[in-house]
Amino acid sequence: MSPRPIAVLASGAVALLILTGCGGSDSENQDSASAPTSESPSAEATENMNSDTNVKALPLGDGKVSKKPKRGYVMSCNDTFNGEGSQTDGPWISDDTWNMDKKPAVKGDVKWPNAKLTIKTKGEKRVISGNGLPDQPTGKFPVQESDPSYQYDRNPNSIEKQSVDWKLTAQPTEAKDPTCLPMNTIGISLDGAAIFNALDAMGRDAGAHEVLDECWGHPEKNGSYHHHTNPSCLDDGSGDEHSPLLGYVLDGYGIYGLRGDDGEQMSNDTLDKCHGHKHEVDWDGSQQDIYHYHMTYEYPYTVGCFTGDPLQIADPGQAGGGEGDGPPPQ
Ligand SMILES: [Zn+2]
Ligand SMILES: [Zn+2]
Repeated sequence: MSPRPIAVLASGAVALLILTGCGGSDSENQDSASAPTSESPSAEATENMNSDTNVKALPLGDGKVSKKPKRGYVMSCNDTFNGEGSQTDGPWISDDTWNMDKKPAVKGDVKWPNAKLTIKTKGEKRVISGNGLPDQPTGKFPVQESDPSYQYDRNPNSIEKQSVDWKLTAQPTEAKDPTCLPMNTIGISLDGAAIFNALDAMGRDAGAHEVLDECWGHPEKNGSYHHHTNPSCLDDGSGDEHSPLLGYVLDGYGIYGLRGDDGEQMSNDTLDKCHGHKHEVDWDGSQQDIYHYHMTYEYPYTVGCFTGDPLQIADPGQAGGGEGDGPPPQ
């Protein structure tokens, strides 16, 4: 049984949503746990579509938390992080880099047939409602003892329905100044999952430290399934064109995939302090010169700060300031 497709409705035209499978849960990653730790970063580009970013040696984002907008940083509303440790450092982390190809994925092929997400514009609002469940298979959470990931990240949380009922502005504008990102939900991915900022409960680089499933998602303590990084099971289009829209951020702006015009892979160097830029892009069914964010392989992965005024939402995790991923392995 495949997951039920999610309806994405926009006025005038429809945001293109191509649903793709996530591949099997038995990936080559399963042996990563015993991978050597001292492999030196390769200077060669990797073979997949990562012609620019060397995903075998991504700079670790730990400590790149700021109170002001700063390129390559998360401008965080939190300056203390009281969350519990999620894991011990895996062998894919060495010194100041981490190797995406060596990081294991949480196993499983759990389907969510009741996943629901609708997005439509009504006047000046973009109305987003859903239940937070992804329309793609996830790993099995809590992480099972038999899962090789368990030795690094014993995520004890289960994926639970959420209540998403947002009215974002459909015509976002830049605020006078960028603003900080709360912990937990900062947007929604078109697969139905929440987008969180790049930090884990301890204020570290979540993409590097936390063990995620094949679609690069996992649940926090309230059961919210979320991405800290690129939602890797969404179709990012073809390699020589601008990526499609992959989600919406709470300030109303869109977030697109890894590539800008002509397929150029985006990086902190090509984006502004908030992790976005402005140029003509497909938006609500027509080409518009509008600001938007991009996913990147490098930290902070999604959004660095809000460029527009964010919608204030009731997210229980935002007050708690932590994901509660459970105690570290003894
Ligand atoms: Zn997380
Ligand atoms: Zn762009």
